[in-house]
Parts: sequence; C-alpha cells; structure tokens
Amino acid sequence: MTAILLGVLAMVPPPGARPIPKEPEPEAYVPALPQDVPGLTENGGEIRWGSTFRGALLESGIAGEVADSIQRHLHDAEFDFTDCRPGQCFTAQTDSAGKLAAFRYGVDKLNSYWILPDSAGILKGFKYTIPTTRELVSIEGKVETSVYHSLLAYGEKPELVVAYEEVLGYDMDFIFDPRKGDTFSMLVERIMLGDEIIGYGKLLCAAYEGEITGEVVGYWFDDTDTKSKGWFAPNGENLQKAFKRAPLPILKVTSGYGMRRHPISGKVKMHTGIDYGAPTGTPVWAVGAGTVSYAGWRGGYGKTVEIRHSGSVKTRYAHLSAIAVKRGQAVRQHQTIGKVGSTGYATGPHLHFEFLVNGKFTMPRRVKNPPLKRIPKDAMPRFEQAMHRIDSTWSAVKGAAYSPLAANE
Ligand SMILES: [Zn+2]
Repeated sequence: MTAILLGVLAMVPPPGARPIPKEPEPEAYVPALPQDVPGLTENGGEIRWGSTFRGALLESGIAGEVADSIQRHLHDAEFDFTDCRPGQCFTAQTDSAGKLAAFRYGVDKLNSYWILPDSAGILKGFKYTIPTTRELVSIEGKVETSVYHSLLAYGEKPELVVAYEEVLGYDMDFIFDPRKGDTFSMLVERIMLGDEIIGYGKLLCAAYEGEITGEVVGYWFDDTDTKSKGWFAPNGENLQKAFKRAPLPILKVTSGYGMRRHPISGKVKMHTGIDYGAPTGTPVWAVGAGTVSYAGWRGGYGKTVEIRHSGSVKTRYAHLSAIAVKRGQAVRQHQTIGKVGSTGYATGPHLHFEFLVNGKFTMPRRVKNPPLKRIPKDAMPRFEQAMHRIDSTWSAVKGAAYSPLAANE
C-alpha cells in the first residue's frame, strides 16, 4: 500500500521539490560475445609456438570458410597478422547455418580484436582497448635488503625495479652496493586499470642515497634542439656511462658474493671476480661496447666470453651454458652474449664476472667509467628549467600521493 502511494507521489512531484535525478550514465562500452543464444557453436584456441593465425583457427575446429571470413573482417580492422604471439587466445561463434556470428581475439591485457554484428546485424571487425588512467606518484623508501624487495613490499611491480635500474645502473650495482638504511626515491607515472597497477610511464626522476654509492640522481630530459635525450645528473652529465654495472637482469639474481671459499679446493682465497647467482639460461649481456676477444672453453672458467673495451679494459663472463657471440665480433652495450650456466669449476649455476684493467682484476667501482655525451652548454638553461618543473611537480604530488616512507612515520 505504502509502495503504491510513493509511486503516485513520485509521478507528481510537489512544487519546489529537488529535480528528479537523471538516469546514471551508461557504463563505458565494453564489447562482449553473445551469451546463451540458441544454436550458437563456440570454438576456441590459442596461438602456439610455430603456428600461424589461420593454422590455429583451423586446429580449433573452425571451418575454412569461417576462417576466411574472420581473416577478412580482422583485415578490415587493420589487424596485423604478423603480430600474433604464442599464448594469445581466441573464441569464435558460428550460427546454426555454420556462418560466423561473432569472434574475439585477445592481444594482451588491454587490447583485443572483435567481430560483432552492428545495430543492423552486419558483422564488423574492430579493435578495442580498455581505457586506463595515468597518475604521477612519488615513491620513497628505505632499503631493508634490496631496492627490489622494498619496492615489491610497497605494492609496486618488478617493471619499476627494471626501469629504476636502467637509470641508475651505471653508477651502482643493485646487487652489491645497497646497504640497509640507504634511501631511494622516484617520480614516476603509474598506468592504472581501476585499482590495479598495470605498468609505468616515464620515470621523471630517480634518486638513490647510500653508504657505498653516495648520492646518485637522474632527471629525464628530452631536448629536440640538441638531441639530448635520457637521464642526466643536475650538472648535465649523462647517467649513461661506458659500462653498465650488472651484466645480467638483476631481477633474476638470487645471490651475490665477492670473496669466499673456493668451492672446489675449499681454500679461502681472494676471489678474482664477482659472482651473480642466477638460474641457468638467464641472459648475460656485455656491460659495454667492445670486441669479443675470446669465446669458447677456458679451463676452470668453462664456457667463457671476453670482451675488449677501449682504454685497456677487458671484461670476462664465465661458467656460461651457451655463448651467443664469436671471436672478433663487435658488440654493443647491453647486447646478449650468452647465458648463465655452471660449466667449468662451478658448484651451481652462476655468472662469474671480471673487470680486467691492463690484464689485472679490478673491482668494478675502481674502473674508470666515463659518461656518454653530456648536455651541451646551450641546452643547460632548458635542462635547468626541466629539472625545476620536475621538482615542483614532485613536491606537489608528494604528500598528496602515495609515500610509504611518510606512511611509516
Ligand atoms: Zn667466480
């Protein structure tokens, strides 16, 4: 009775009443395959290593002419068939007459291709990208065991560790240099899908202050006039240097040690190298540009690569499971030269890495590491402006946004 009465009252609003609220805005368009339509047949599958797009469709039981139709519609949607990657999944629906009714192809977490009927019932192929949001965040923290562990503990993704290491990894070794109590900070753009972090934009500034490393800071700068592009110290020096410190992806490293008991002879000795524990098969890259001066088996070192750099500096990478370069070959900085293994005198998979200056083992920190091209003088005022902008943006987002260090205090 009450309900009916309210219903009547609602139809005749009393004078002076607040405006009737509008219908909520429709949710952003999200395509979907038709559900529970009688007579529809569904076939699905995924792209496997070595299979073609069409091959995968046919393998899942899709008829040849339906595959033709799918390919035609995806072609209209500018789908690049050469971009198909293993693991990408698809679903096709056909009607009772065996004709294509709908199709979905997932490219990645955000992108998919669809073939769906339009309002007139005509099949149309199109691409759909899930809308994401971007937010600038300031992240600061103290090292407990490693930057990696601290960032992950704050809820960040491994990609951020990789990006941060790309900026500062010429001045510091993320495995050996961090000490408990060192501080790190950065200003970075997070790419969000709802509440979920799905990636990162540019790191605008990255800083580290540590017992071993001192203070290292890099500001992003992209100057079209002078073609200066990258991260630079406040004095205009390039953070990118002749040698990168870690010869392999730091996220794969399970342990590191410098001086230790020789695993085979048992004698304590000064270990003439740096060992990075990492799974067999982890890629190993050249820390700097140079020429391969040795590639092959070398006694206790097992499969070994040696690279000659400028300034009588040589680097050696030992116990490899595979070698990807040949003697005499020129290599770029960061080029993969082999894979971690346990060949030669090695108790388990690890990379034995050495810097040799004039043939003598030298601690990496003592090796001269000249920076690449600095910011030219005439671009310095622009760089200073850019730094200033980044700093003021940073202070604006600090406090307002996420800062685990502040939250802990
Ligand atoms: Zn070693």
